[in-house]
Amino acid sequence: MHIVVCIKQVPNTTNVQIDATTGTLKREGVEAIINPFDEYAIEEAIRLKERFGGKTTVITMGPPQAEQALRDTLARGIDNAILVSDRAFAGADTWATSYALAQAIRTLGDYDLIICGKQATDGDTAQVGPGVAEMLNIPHVAYVKKIEEASNGSMKVERMMEDGYDLIETPLPALITVVKEINTPRLPSLRGLMNAKKAQIPHWNAETIKAEKLNIGLTGSPTQVLKIFSPPLRPGGEMLQGSLEQVAEQLVAKLKNAQLI
Ligand SMILES: Cc1cc2nc3c(=O)[nH]c(=O)nc-3n(C[C@H](O)[C@H](O)[C@H](O)COP(=O)(O)OP(=O)(O)OC[C@H]3O[C@@H](n4cnc5c(N)ncnc54)[C@H](O)[C@@H]3O)c2cc1C
Repeated sequence: MHIVVCIKQVPNTTNVQIDATTGTLKREGVEAIINPFDEYAIEEAIRLKERFGGKTTVITMGPPQAEQALRDTLARGIDNAILVSDRAFAGADTWATSYALAQAIRTLGDYDLIICGKQATDGDTAQVGPGVAEMLNIPHVAYVKKIEEASNGSMKVERMMEDGYDLIETPLPALITVVKEINTPRLPSLRGLMNAKKAQIPHWNAETIKAEKLNIGLTGSPTQVLKIFSPPLRPGGEMLQGSLEQVAEQLVAKLKNAQLI
């Protein structure tokens, strides 16, 4: 079984700031980490290999610094890592990102399962996993919280729902996106860290993955971002004081005053 994991480097902060002039994320001085949801994808790939045998490959599309994230996955037990990097990918929206990743996975050749995190903590769209599956024309299941079986060309998974879960069987190859309930990620071992330091990580560019120029980067991105801004801070609410009746009276008066009732 060949399991491919897609990971993304994201800023280590939930307080992502936007440059008001350029409308892009402010990345300077912010440490980059593996997207937290991708940690579960990495762990699940290693566990599946331990259960069913096979090999694991991690792919990221990003700048050369993203190599560090790949080394981290090798230290945990992933077999191979590939960095998909080219200036021509800059400005990619989720469509162009999905296209580049799908091309990279095609370049790998054989694969049985692709695992993505449920979403990235910076872009937050949750579109890339399903996008990759659509481009590869394979089935996909989002929000997977448990893999029950994966053998003989099919797999059975539990998809998390608000009020329980769906049990879904899908033929392989397939793509799943995983939620944090699926496992507890392991830490890298000391030996793993030493080996990962020395590992050669191939860099694939647009040519390597046979990407059509018109489908990558800004040119290949159908999304038109008109404006990105932080919403203005809302003024604090007003606490009404008094008994229940007094508070209700004050509230009605305020709503009437604002011509809302
Ligand atoms: C018009 C436009 C221009 C943009 N320009 C830029 C830009 O110049 N620079 C920039 O950094 N971002 C840019 N972005 C943001 C970029 O498109 C997204 O960060 C990217 O497509 C991933 O989307 P997401 O963060 O919503 O990921 P999600 O869809 O939320 O991620 C889901 C999962 O997909 C996988 N995944 C996502 N991205 C990658 C990746 N790169 N490699 C491997 N796996 C991945 C991971 O498993 C992740 O958990 C731009 C977006 C738009 C709309």
